Amino acid sequence: MRAGLLDWYDEEGRTLPWRIRPEDRRAGKTADPYAVWLSEIMLQQTTVPHGTPYWHKFLEAFPTVIDLANAERETVLNMWAGLGYYARARNLHKCAQIIRDDYDGAFPKTEAALLKLPGIGPYTAATIAAICFDQATNIVDGNVERVISRIFKIEEPLPEARQPLRLLAGTLADPRRAGDYGQAVMDLGATICTPRSPNCPDCPWDNYCLAKANGHPEAYPKKSVKKPKPIRYGAAFVALHDGEVLLETRPDKGLLGGMAGLPGSEWTAEPLKNPLEAAPFEGDWVKSDNEVKHVFTHFELRLDVYKAEFETRPDSNQAWADDYLLAGLPTVFKKALKTVQF
Ligand code: SF4
Repeated sequence: MRAGLLDWYDEEGRTLPWRIRPEDRRAGKTADPYAVWLSEIMLQQTTVPHGTPYWHKFLEAFPTVIDLANAERETVLNMWAGLGYYARARNLHKCAQIIRDDYDGAFPKTEAALLKLPGIGPYTAATIAAICFDQATNIVDGNVERVISRIFKIEEPLPEARQPLRLLAGTLADPRRAGDYGQAVMDLGATICTPRSPNCPDCPWDNYCLAKANGHPEAYPKKSVKKPKPIRYGAAFVALHDGEVLLETRPDKGLLGGMAGLPGSEWTAEPLKNPLEAAPFEGDWVKSDNEVKHVFTHFELRLDVYKAEFETRPDSNQAWADDYLLAGLPTVFKKALKTVQF
């Protein structure tokens, strides 16, 4: 199975800008851990086409991990805007500083040492260790889980099946070409063994696959029924003065921590009784007809948006922002600005 998959990967594996192709690897080229780490953190919960321009942008602005560590955190967060899950950007910056300060700017080579760094979980540690340092690790992401669940026709649903799938994936992993093997299974899941319509005739593992033999590979992995996300409610305020918008810096801890945002209320389980109490100052606040809906990992937010124009700039120790700063706002606040046609 390993040989068949690696032959397929040598011919058909994806070419990605942070990746070393097998022929280059054989010629002695090695992957740059900084570039691989950056791509892995960006591609968590982000597609390759959406994440790749950010990867280029970051490498251009911060060619080395030391450059990233030396950057202002606000600059990093602004450049991250649009990728979502901002804890990743905060951890990215923190991790770069630890690599600069504790590791002389060179990534540690073992899975165990990588796992101790902020923002690096089991998948990312296994991937960097295998791809960059040829460590025999067991790389398991969503693509690998899908492929393995089909090969072995696992009836237990996700997420409960996660650990058994990991163990099964480990029995197949190739210690001799650990990085290529891990990338090969991920590529198989991304390009052939896709969620809805797996292309079994082109699959190097079709002879071994129990779900394919059963006739319904797309029915795997089985999934537990999802509970609906709880809803939270809030209000956001768009205060305008001379073409600029009032922004606030969100508290460091919590959702979108440390990011710029629109002033507003807490986000609560019940609709607000007196939303205007959360306004940054008194004004002729007009509520937008359109509510903002935004889905976070653990809840869905319904945000009422209020707008008011001010001829003289009200007293505030927060920043007034022009278009440039607004471009770096988290998506939920960009949606809020859109509802008031700003
Ligand atoms: S045979 Fe089909 S279902 Fe099985 S691993 Fe290959 S593409 Fe996926």
